[in-house]
Amino acid sequence: MTTSTSLFERAKMVIPGGVNSPVRAFKGVGGTPVFIESAKGAYIFDTDGKQYIDYVGSWGPMVLGHNHLAILSAVQKTAEKGLSFGAPTPLEIELAELVCKLIPSIEMVRMVNSGTEATMSAIRLARGYTGRDKILKFEGCYHGHSDSLLVKAGSGALTLGQPSSPGVPEDFAKHTLTCEYNNLDSVKQAFEQYPNEIACVIIEPVAGNMNCVPPKAGFLQGIRELCDHYNTLFIIDEVMTGFRVALNGAQGYYGVTPDLTTLGKIIGGGMPVGAFGGKKEIMEYIAPTGPVYQAGTLSGNPIAMAAGLACLNELKKAGNQQRIADLTEKLALGLRNLADKHQVPFVVNYVGGMFGLFFTDQKEVSTYAQVMKCDSKKFNQFFHSMLAQGIYLAPSAFEAGFMSLAHSDKDIDRTLQAADQAFATLKN
Ligand code: PMP
Repeated sequence: MTTSTSLFERAKMVIPGGVNSPVRAFKGVGGTPVFIESAKGAYIFDTDGKQYIDYVGSWGPMVLGHNHLAILSAVQKTAEKGLSFGAPTPLEIELAELVCKLIPSIEMVRMVNSGTEATMSAIRLARGYTGRDKILKFEGCYHGHSDSLLVKAGSGALTLGQPSSPGVPEDFAKHTLTCEYNNLDSVKQAFEQYPNEIACVIIEPVAGNMNCVPPKAGFLQGIRELCDHYNTLFIIDEVMTGFRVALNGAQGYYGVTPDLTTLGKIIGGGMPVGAFGGKKEIMEYIAPTGPVYQAGTLSGNPIAMAAGLACLNELKKAGNQQRIADLTEKLALGLRNLADKHQVPFVVNYVGGMFGLFFTDQKEVSTYAQVMKCDSKKFNQFFHSMLAQGIYLAPSAFEAGFMSLAHSDKDIDRTLQAADQAFATLKN
């Protein structure tokens, strides 16, 4: 018996399902979650001391690798000065200035404590600013667990087969329209049905909560045009993609300008952080300059600001984004070649530093329906074979994988060697 097994039993006595976020429980893939003791660079170490090459990276934030010295030292230095003041600090301005510089559509930004808070607040702002109630999201996209957004959501909810959650009043859910990702016609139809009622469209510019599904050419631009036509705000949720798909976000990568952007994960370098920002005129509509209320005791927390700044300053160094994209491509193409070698029907999607593995004989996977047609049993088998060989992939067929700058070519080679064996076990 591993220590993880006994820790899981102990955890289940006092924490629902033994975890503080559902996907960690390995429900989709089966088996016992690995309990982590420590992490460094591309590796995590479990409570028995076993090393894994990590492609989860705390679900995205660890883009530099774990426990990067620049972040660690910024956190230590800042902590010595005090953990939280509930008053403004210079660090908040510095991070806000850097975010505005890196993502030009963000003229002003407000810090919060999680991605959930960022999207929830952005939606309240959009509703307050436009005076409209309806919002439009996409099936399979996850934007955190606030009531309005937990409607046919992805991520843990999808894995658990609960497209929407009990506890979300129907009266809330009825204001959330859900369209098909990569289907612009479905968005057109929604606008035609409710031409004056939609406050905002919110989207993951690369969907990362139904595995990894990039947008088709023109899809994001088409939404932008519809939003302009119907005076609806366009919110691009870059909680996952921001500074990972490109330094100027997926919006920069695909050349589309939103009214509001939500951020999280990387912007906190591993500390709890979220942010939402956009056009000055809209952002000034929140308190204290405007009437839409939004606040937070720990928002702009100095340790989180320091970690985020250190992370972005490191990440923006020349060549880093290209390096992470190259590593991701090397892994993705390597996996595809191995799948071919073993005659395992397989599709791999990847953009920047994120990727998705699909066990399917479909030619491409670009919609939620196509994701749902994939063989999740095969994924689970593959996952466990990789885990046993010391490769830690996302424990769900509905989550994207994340590369970090700490991964080396050797790590990728080792991962591909393990995959060679894993694919071999899947043949029949
Ligand atoms: N938006 C997106 C696109 C996400 O991927 C996530 C989390 N995976 C969230 C929002 C919610 O962020 P958090 O878990 O920090 O609340």
